[in-house]
Amino acid sequence: MSTVYLNGAFMAMEQARISPMDRGFLFADGVYEVIPAFNGVLFRFEEHLRRLERSLSALYLINPHDRAGWRRRCEELIQRNGGGNLSLYLQITRGAADKRDHAFPDPPVSPTVFMSTAPLTVPTEDSPDRITGAAAITLDDIRWARCDIKSISLLPNILLRQQAIASGAREAILIHDGFVTEGAASNVFIVKDGEIATPPASHAILGGITRDLVIELCREQDLPLREREISEAELGDADEVWISSSTRDVVPVVSLDGRPVGDGRPGETWKILARHYIAFKRRLCGV
Ligand code: PLP
Repeated sequence: MSTVYLNGAFMAMEQARISPMDRGFLFADGVYEVIPAFNGVLFRFEEHLRRLERSLSALYLINPHDRAGWRRRCEELIQRNGGGNLSLYLQITRGAADKRDHAFPDPPVSPTVFMSTAPLTVPTEDSPDRITGAAAITLDDIRWARCDIKSISLLPNILLRQQAIASGAREAILIHDGFVTEGAASNVFIVKDGEIATPPASHAILGGITRDLVIELCREQDLPLREREISEAELGDADEVWISSSTRDVVPVVSLDGRPVGDGRPGETWKILARHYIAFKRRLCGV
């Protein structure tokens, strides 16, 4: 039975109770983070906390804990769930008011803080994803204009991902006005003639922690990378396409809308990047 954290206490998942008046439940009025832990070590924790701080302040929510407080609580939750490889889910909502009203409760109510963990399969050099790659489809980006906020309001992402799954693909790559934004739950990279490109950070995408690390590693390894707009036509014509996220690392997309990407196998540039990514994780967490 897994242990969760709710509003200051650790408890069995089955014991956690949240009010139906919680604004997370009524309005999706809250933010979240997903932080991987490898060998019990939280990966890029400060970066996740920085993004959490940005999401909270965009929603005018007061951060209930300082960084040391978050670290203590997150590390204890990881330990209580046996350490190892886990993904930690952290959610903060505007709390439960007496009355359902779109306007913020005045005076404010205490936020609801919930954290849980789930087993995380760590991609290795011989994971199926890495040998065969993944399929993706392109879909219209039907989301709102502040995708940089890691909001729990995920209905468009859910519908888009489900459409991908229903068509036998792993991810939906989203197109806004003819340009790539990101995946339904990932960031997107392409490789063309040896140059790596990814859409620039903006309100149109979530600034992925994995995306930032890929950019960092490319710079460190002198792999040419530009943050720039990518047209739908360029995506279709790319030699390689990758998607990145904290729970999947960097996955090569080998088929897009049913057509092979490049020669339909994980590309050479991806192989180089993946090696550096795995080495970085090993240095930090020993996996
Ligand atoms: N973009 C979206 C919409 C996401 O939901 C996610 C992760 O869930 C990402 C990008 C990747 O972010 P990260 O690398 O921080 O997991």
